[in-house]
Parts: sequence; C-alpha cells; structure tokens
Amino acid sequence: MNSMDLNTYKNPALRAIAAKVLEGEPVSTDDAMAMLTTADILELGTIADYVRTRINGPRAYYGVNMNLNYTNVCELRCPLCAYSRDAGDSDAYTLTLDQIEEKVRRAVSFGIDEVHIVGGLNPDLTLDYFLEMLRRIKRISGDLFVVAFTATEYDYFARRSNITLDELFRMMIDAGLGALPGGGAEIFSPDVRGVIAPKKISGARWLEVMQAAHRAGLKTNATMLFNHIESAGHIVDHLARLRDAQSQTGGFKAFVPLPFHRENTAIAEQRAGTGFDDIRIYATARVFLHNIPHIKGLWMYLGEKMAQVLLKFGVDDIGATYHYEKVVHAAGAQTPDFGSETHLRRLIENAGLMPVRTNASYGMA
Ligand code: SF4
Repeated sequence: MNSMDLNTYKNPALRAIAAKVLEGEPVSTDDAMAMLTTADILELGTIADYVRTRINGPRAYYGVNMNLNYTNVCELRCPLCAYSRDAGDSDAYTLTLDQIEEKVRRAVSFGIDEVHIVGGLNPDLTLDYFLEMLRRIKRISGDLFVVAFTATEYDYFARRSNITLDELFRMMIDAGLGALPGGGAEIFSPDVRGVIAPKKISGARWLEVMQAAHRAGLKTNATMLFNHIESAGHIVDHLARLRDAQSQTGGFKAFVPLPFHRENTAIAEQRAGTGFDDIRIYATARVFLHNIPHIKGLWMYLGEKMAQVLLKFGVDDIGATYHYEKVVHAAGAQTPDFGSETHLRRLIENAGLMPVRTNASYGMA
C-alpha cells in the first residue's frame, strides 16, 4: 500500500483530510467542498490514490461487453438527451427480440462477458418484452452477465404494469437480470434536475428504486452527470445522498461520474470543463465515498488518456469495450464506439497497475 506522510502536505485543508483518511474516519461535506475547489491536485491525488490502493490494491478493472440500446423512443425527451426520439421520427427505432438476439449472438462471437442494456421509455413495449429479452440473452449463454435498465426505466415498468418494485425485481431476477448499471441519477438536486431532466423521476425516487434493487439482492452502480449547469455544492449534495443511501443498503458497487456531452442536446449553455475539474471530481468521489468500493472513469466519456491519468486519482475501473454504444456518441463523444481488450489492458499496465477483466459484479473483488 502507498503511504501518506502528513508532513509533506502544504495545503492545511488537505492535510486535515489526509489525517482523517489515515484514521479511517469519513470525511465531511465541508472536506468534499475543499477537495472540489482545490488547485492542489497532486496532494489531493495522493489521498485519493491511498484510498484507491487501500480498497483495490494494485488492481484496475475493465470489462468486455456490448451495449444494447433497445429503443430510442422515449416519452420524456429530457433536455440533456441527444439520443431519444419521438415515436413518429424518421430515425426512431425499436429493436425486435429477434434483432436483439442476433446482435447479442454476434457480440458473443467476439467473446463478450456482459450485456449492458438501457433504452428510452417507449409506451409500446410491455413488461413481457423486457422479461423475454433477458431470457433470450441468457439462453444464448448462461454465463453472460446482464446489467440492465436505469431506475427511471424500472419506475416506468412498475407503474405501467401496476406492480411493486419488489415484484418487478423478483421477475427480472428470475428472467436473468444480474445487476443495474446505475444511470439516470444525473444530479439529485431539484434545481438542476428541473432544467436538465424535468420529467425524469426525482433524485429521491431514484435512490428509492436503487435501494429496492439492493434489498432484492442486486448490486448496482450509481452515476452522476457533471459538466453542465451544476455547482460544486450540487456535487457535494449528490455524493452525500449516495453515501447515506449506501450506509443503509450497501448495494452500490461502483460510482460512475459521467462528463456531459452537449452536442445535439437541448442544453443551451455549458460550462467548459477542464482537466483539473475532472481530476478534482473523481478524486473527491474516491475519498468521500469510502463505503463504495469502485470508482469508474469511463474511457469512452473521458477520452482514453484522461481515463488513464485518473487511475492515479482514485479511479480503479476504466470501463469496458462497449461494442455498439450509441447514447454518448449521439451527444458528440469523439472516442471510437468500442475499445479492444488489448488496448484497455495496455492503458492500465502503462499506468503501473494490474489489469483485471471483470463484470459489474466485480466477482469477489
Ligand atoms: S435521458 Fe433517458 S429518460 Fe431522458 S429522454 Fe433520454 S432516454 Fe429518455
């Protein structure tokens, strides 16, 4: 494990945070604010790397997966979303179960371990479609790990089928669901949510759905969309609510900050994010969320070079190969829509860490 010598800290706020971390004491929301606004990223990085190493040793994770975006038709049409369409639009689509099966079979021939599924809220699709989707995927290969649907989708499925979340998760697990990807969290605060995703379920409901999944025995990720109109205070609030929720159910495996891509969205203004901002956010998350084991820095959102650098600032998972990703590319991400396993391993090894291929369950890690 790396060590932290408190005498080397020039920044008193970071020295105090390092002292708490060494004692195993949770840091406060004021500490989170100090980390999110510091220019001393190397001192902050030392603390984040210490926590990262204490939890994950020399390991850094990546996955070999495919993305399945089953429909882009969505009732909500959130301003932040470049991907959704209205049902009658010329480029609206909904995959049939046969098409889904064919895509998954093709990806299985490339050697994927995991299918990551998210889509829009399409009123033409019934619960049977989703259950059958999971069953067919598991029939292709029982070993495929299925990480499916956001809290927004689960809330919609439960309301439309008039069943409880508990019943819904039981049915999904029986059909083959393995975990939840954690999308749709955005920023919990209503002032931001009201602008970027006014019709989406509230932050409180998002947490309620995820905690119901945890109680059903499912593990989930938790995302946070940043780099749009949020302030540091909104980020601290988001992290604090996640940490509290985790202290109750313990089901969050990974926290996944997602830098916003504005192209083709209805968000008019965006603060230009910087490299320091990215570093501060991931490192702060690593230190503050002491009870969530993994911090994901998705190379597809960040660019592979920044994702690699963040491996020294708290990140222990750079994401997966993502065959067929559509959502972030609709919003202008310039990265290729899949990365090879060899390349992901090289990024990790080149940062001095040990690459470990995993899925959303992180095995025993
Ligand atoms: S972000 Fe999700 S819920 Fe909102 S419009 Fe896009 S697909 Fe629909």
